[in-house]
Amino acid sequence: MTQLKLYDTYERQVRELIPLKDNDVGLYACGPTVYNYVHIGNLRTYIFEDLLRRTIVHAGFNLKHVMNITDVGHLTSDADSGEDKMEVGSRRSGMSAWEMAEFYADSFKEDLQRLNILPPDIWCKATDHIKEQIAFVEDLEAKNYTYKTSDGIYFDSRKLNSYGYLARLDVEGLQAGARVEQGERRFVTDFALWKFSSPDEQRQMEWESPWGVGFPGWHIECSAMSARYLGDYFDIHCGGKDHIPIHHTNEIAQTEASRGTRLANFWMHGYFLQMEESKMSKSSGDFLRLQSLIDEGFSSLAYRYFCLTAHYRSELSFSWESLKANDTALNRLYEAAFSWGDPTTISEAYMTRFVEHLYEDLNVPRALAVAWELARSDEPDGVKKATLLAFDEIFGLDIAEWEPAQIDIPDEVLNLVSAREEARSQKDWGKADAVREEIRNLGFEVEDSREGPKIKPL
Ligand code: AMP
Ligand code: ZN
Repeated sequence: MTQLKLYDTYERQVRELIPLKDNDVGLYACGPTVYNYVHIGNLRTYIFEDLLRRTIVHAGFNLKHVMNITDVGHLTSDADSGEDKMEVGSRRSGMSAWEMAEFYADSFKEDLQRLNILPPDIWCKATDHIKEQIAFVEDLEAKNYTYKTSDGIYFDSRKLNSYGYLARLDVEGLQAGARVEQGERRFVTDFALWKFSSPDEQRQMEWESPWGVGFPGWHIECSAMSARYLGDYFDIHCGGKDHIPIHHTNEIAQTEASRGTRLANFWMHGYFLQMEESKMSKSSGDFLRLQSLIDEGFSSLAYRYFCLTAHYRSELSFSWESLKANDTALNRLYEAAFSWGDPTTISEAYMTRFVEHLYEDLNVPRALAVAWELARSDEPDGVKKATLLAFDEIFGLDIAEWEPAQIDIPDEVLNLVSAREEARSQKDWGKADAVREEIRNLGFEVEDSREGPKIKPL
């Protein structure tokens, strides 16, 4: 049997996924901060995680997938300065922070559904787990990893020798070159575990704690909630690449200090979708959402297909031209698969090649190339269909459900098509061409096939 191998950012190597316990794989994915809609870049990361979870199940493991929703504590700068994004978003949107969190979390879930991203087994919200977060900070305090400033309780990163290993941070270099406002923090890499509500501001989201009224820091929610649902040490933790130097580094530090484990056996990161800065910044207000693509006439699965064409550990540049090209390719695949009729038996040879690529750190672009080779091969149609449908359990493109759009063809066009057939049967090619031109003028194209003429809108 082919082993499933995955790249672990922590060890910087591809290695076999061997579950920590029995056949069970625990997977934790950092969810969005719900102060605005998610953009198509965020969605690339969730597509990667969906491919990962489908592959884990394909390989025969029992999966438990947990995803959080960050609805408090993520400040406008990841380095713990600025305001809470939720409070800023509430002012912008005119909704209360609570209403806004629900609104954007629902919108996110709708996007996931439209992209065939399977939902996690457990959703968890930071604001529903304040008790667990406070308990975690208390434990860190008892173990002497914290200190207090005028605005919060901070993690003392210098107390942990391994701090920053995930990102291979040059901690001393960072401190020497620190240009950012360090405030009362003792060291540049120290981070907030609990922030006090400022006396000058009425926060909408705040709680009592042993240290005073306030709210949890961003990183503590993931350490606390993953421990609650998956245990202190579980199989895979993932997120976007930007989480490596701060968010995941700090999650690891908290858990290592409190529990003595590095949180997850594998750390996996999706690389970015790249495009113009302004189109990719949730705080700019002018970014591309899934709905923006739909408004331009693309299906959400065309975006999913576009993401399948790049390995998750390489950057992918977005452009309308390449989305269009991928949309065309996907439609060709749909049409071909539809024309193959009913599935019969799966081709073992193609399946083996598909699995080999997929299990080699999710090489989905190569797996997709195998699908195209299959489509162009001279395997019987039923075999092609059965094999492609099996591949689609990973691709998630709804190939089985696709049907050609029903189009209304005016009688005038149908009559012209018959007239053209008539001309062709009499070998009057001049007339046949002239009629085809007339059909084109009415907005339709006629193509000749073995089954007779096919009519398509131009
Ligand atoms: P956020 O809502 O900012 O916490 O981001 C949600 C997820 O999207 C995180 O896993 C980020 O790492 C990821 N992400 C943010 N920007 C991009 C991007 N341009 N491409 C891919 N993933 C991204
Ligand atoms: Zn997280």
